[in-house]
Amino acid sequence: MRLLNTMRAWGLGVGLLLAGAALAQAPLEPRHRLVPVADAPPRLALTLDACSGRFDAPLLDFLIRERIPATLFVTRRWLRRNAGAVALIKAHADLFEVENHGASHVPAVIGPGREVYGIEGVPDLEQLRAEVQGGAAAIEAAFGTAPRWYRGATAVYDPQALAEIERLGYRIAGYSLNADAGATLARAAIEQRLQRARDGDVIIAHMNKPDSDSAEALIAGLAVLKQQGYVFVRLDQAQLQPARPARSAPKPKP
Ligand SMILES: [Zn+2]
Repeated sequence: MRLLNTMRAWGLGVGLLLAGAALAQAPLEPRHRLVPVADAPPRLALTLDACSGRFDAPLLDFLIRERIPATLFVTRRWLRRNAGAVALIKAHADLFEVENHGASHVPAVIGPGREVYGIEGVPDLEQLRAEVQGGAAAIEAAFGTAPRWYRGATAVYDPQALAEIERLGYRIAGYSLNADAGATLARAAIEQRLQRARDGDVIIAHMNKPDSDSAEALIAGLAVLKQQGYVFVRLDQAQLQPARPARSAPKPKP
C-alpha cells in the first residue's frame, strides 16, 4: 500500500512537472500599447507588415500624401521582390521606419513540426538566429539603417525564442489592435476595427497583398482617424508597454 501511495505521489509530481514545462513553453503573443504622454493629442502607432508577396502602392502613396508616419516590418524575402517599394520607402525616410520581420517569414516557435497558423517554425535556435539576423542584414543592405525592433512571422513566440531575440539586441513589437487579420478581412470589417482605435493603440495591418481589401480599407479608415485628431507616431518615436490581450485578435486555427 505504501509503495502504491509513493508511486501515486511520484506520478502526480511528474505530471505537475510536465504541465509546468508545457506552460513554460506555451507560445506567447505579446501585446503592446504606447506609453501615455502627458498633454499630448491622442496618439496611434501604425505598423504595417510586409511578409512576402507584393506591395500596396496606393496605401504607401496615401501615407506619403497625408504625411502619416508608419513603422514597416519587412522580410528579406519581400525586400528582394519589391525594388519599387524599397525606392519609395527610401525616398520618404522621414515618414517610414523600417524594422525586422525576419528573413523568410518563419515563426519564432522552436522544434521540429512546430507551426503557427499552418506556417512551420524553426527547427532550432541556430535557425532562429539566422531568421532574425538575415532579416536585419537585408534591411541594412537596402536602407543603411539597423533595425531595433523585431516582429516574428505571425507575431507568436516561444518563451525561449523571445529571450534569444532580446539577447540579440531587439525589442519585440507587439500590438493592441489587429486591423486586418493578416489581410483576410473585408473592407467594412477592417474599417470597423479601425474605428475602435483608442489613444495609445498600436495597430497591426498588412501592406503586401494588393488583391486584398486591406489598402482600400486602411486608406478610408486612417483618413477618418486623422480627421478625428489622432496623431500617428512610429515606434522609434514612442515607448511601448505591455497591454492586455489585443482587441480583434485572430482566433488560432484549431
Ligand atoms: Zn508577416
